[in-house]
Amino acid sequence: MKPITDKEKQRSVCEHETDAQGVRKFQTELQPASDYEKELQRLADSGNLRDLPHLHPDGCRMHTSEGCLLNLSSNDYLGLGNRTDWHTEFLQSLKPEECLFSSTSSRLLTGNYPIYDEVEQLLANLYEREAALFFSSGYHMNTGILPALTDSRSLILADKLVHASIIDGIRLSSARCIRYRHQDYRQLEQLLEKHQHDYDRIFIVTESIFSMDGDIAPLPLLVDLKKRYPNVLLYVDEAHAVGARGTRGLGIAEEQGCLADIDLLCGTMGKALASMGAFVVCSHTLRRYLINKMRTLIFTTALPPIQMAWTRFVLLRLAELDDRRRHLLRMSRTVQQALTARGYTSPSESHILPVIIGDSHEAILKAEDMRRKGFYVLPVRPPTVPEGTSRLRLSLTASLTEADVERLIQAL
Ligand SMILES: *Cc1c(COP(=O)(O)O)cnc(C)c1O
Repeated sequence: MKPITDKEKQRSVCEHETDAQGVRKFQTELQPASDYEKELQRLADSGNLRDLPHLHPDGCRMHTSEGCLLNLSSNDYLGLGNRTDWHTEFLQSLKPEECLFSSTSSRLLTGNYPIYDEVEQLLANLYEREAALFFSSGYHMNTGILPALTDSRSLILADKLVHASIIDGIRLSSARCIRYRHQDYRQLEQLLEKHQHDYDRIFIVTESIFSMDGDIAPLPLLVDLKKRYPNVLLYVDEAHAVGARGTRGLGIAEEQGCLADIDLLCGTMGKALASMGAFVVCSHTLRRYLINKMRTLIFTTALPPIQMAWTRFVLLRLAELDDRRRHLLRMSRTVQQALTARGYTSPSESHILPVIIGDSHEAILKAEDMRRKGFYVLPVRPPTVPEGTSRLRLSLTASLTEADVERLIQAL
């Protein structure tokens, strides 16, 4: 084991900084306060200014000043967000001791209500793994795990397109990080070969369904790759896949048959599963280690018990939603085929379907055009996606009908 020299540390920082869609790209140079207006103007000029929209979502519809639109920007992939029948059933089944709207404490102090252990046990059982650990959100999860598990003798190899929350986790860690070209597993293999002896441990970090392109990582290939080395761990963020994929709704690792082989399988509850929070499925050892070291678990108030009870309610019904999952996949394939037929190059293999336009202003115009035609579609621009790949991001939900999809295809 070679000690890490200052020069190498320096290099690792530089790599962060110069990376094309760099880890530090989100930070503009600190400006004197008087320049904030100028920066906002610059954002406006380049078509990248954001504002909070004023909306009234209503299932797969969206009430806006432009009228009632079909919502194609939601993460409610299974359409569970407005299952009022479930809400009623849940509230009626709720035990009084779970009807608490705050835990008023971190789980390490007095916030660890029994429902937490129950949900974690349920997750471990569903995934047929040793243990699970629950967090307040996917953002807490991804900003906390890597800083807890790595040090300066660790290397993180992350896909170029991983989610901002993972990037922030990398930034908070003292590990060196190299980001491999999106889904370029030859490059990943070369990096592993090259660095296997230079670090105590190496983390491969990927999403399963990628947030912006909707393409899917071949997890068994990554499992094979990591198994060739004694010190490599695989970290997979299934935020867009949990609930939506796999026969039992456990995600892409279930679909691809490698649930047992992923060291850190991360899922979130806020998207397809219409709740809040996130979880990692892992070994007992990693769970215990995270409880001791993970700052975003230790130093934050735990989710309210009533929220956890709702999470349990949904998880217990996960397996019975397979019809919805299949409906979602069928519609996704139809839209993907239509996009290809219209000359768009879409890499998608899921319910997330990018319509890549290129220029930010044009993406905004196209989104406005779609809104006029009755579809609530948002443009996605840098820095969320690389420069020159501004796009519409369609995300489908199982509460759409085949007729809705037909109308969408006509509108595109
Ligand atoms: C949405 C998302 C997160 C964040 O999850 P929250 O629970 O919303 O904080 C993390 N990772 C990916 C890939 C996501 O898409």
